[in-house]
Amino acid sequence: MRDQIVAGNWKMNLSFEQALQLASNINTWVSENETKAKVIISPSSIYLQAIQEIVDDQFIQIAAQDVSVAEKGAYTGDISAEQLDSIGINTAIVGHSERRQYQQETDESIAKKLEQLFAKNITPILCIGENLEQRETNQHFEVVKSQVLNALTPQKTENLSKIVIAYEPVWAIGTGKTASPEQAQEIHAFIRQTLNNSFGEEIANATSILYGGSVNPSNAKELFSQPDIDGGLVGGASLNIEDFSQIIASF
Ligand code: PGA
Repeated sequence: MRDQIVAGNWKMNLSFEQALQLASNINTWVSENETKAKVIISPSSIYLQAIQEIVDDQFIQIAAQDVSVAEKGAYTGDISAEQLDSIGINTAIVGHSERRQYQQETDESIAKKLEQLFAKNITPILCIGENLEQRETNQHFEVVKSQVLNALTPQKTENLSKIVIAYEPVWAIGTGKTASPEQAQEIHAFIRQTLNNSFGEEIANATSILYGGSVNPSNAKELFSQPDIDGGLVGGASLNIEDFSQIIASF
């Protein structure tokens, strides 16, 4: 009923040539194998168009890694939702913890980014997740709930069904430390309950909630088999075809 998704977040990795090669390998693999999961790759924005030309959009979707809070104008270095739309991009990651940490993104700026994306019918992958201190002091439920509500409450109701959420505990990102399937399931179910309480059952049941944080070929299957985990947002292991294809095949 919900989309099952494996999304590769390439972050600020790969040369142009490496990115083209990896995209082409993923395209070949996905076109030759039956996959239950929807596959998304998210390269740096300077590569978006070139990669679009070599992958088949029937098999693979391409996501931007960010979008501007503003619609247009004097925002040097930013890329607007309208510009993404103008090259045919229909998905974007928003509010990744690295942007919250290094670019001072807040729930408020993330809510504005969602508005920009919805205005252009671009699907947001909204990233949320607690840091280690918050987990150790048992604040993770509260943190995740406020991240979800602060981002989604300002949105128009008709747009809420278009969102994908990625739960990524900061302590698990790039650390090799994964949340256990039970830990991840517990908080995914809580996120779905939060959606249910605030926006209704239909939206809660329709929203794909991905897990991110050191997903790899050996833990993907167990994570993805949890009832409230609808796939993964994969960083490090999305940078080579062997690992990424095994993760896609874990569904
Ligand atoms: P990781 O990154 O898989 O390398 O932990 C995940 C992410 O940050 O999206």
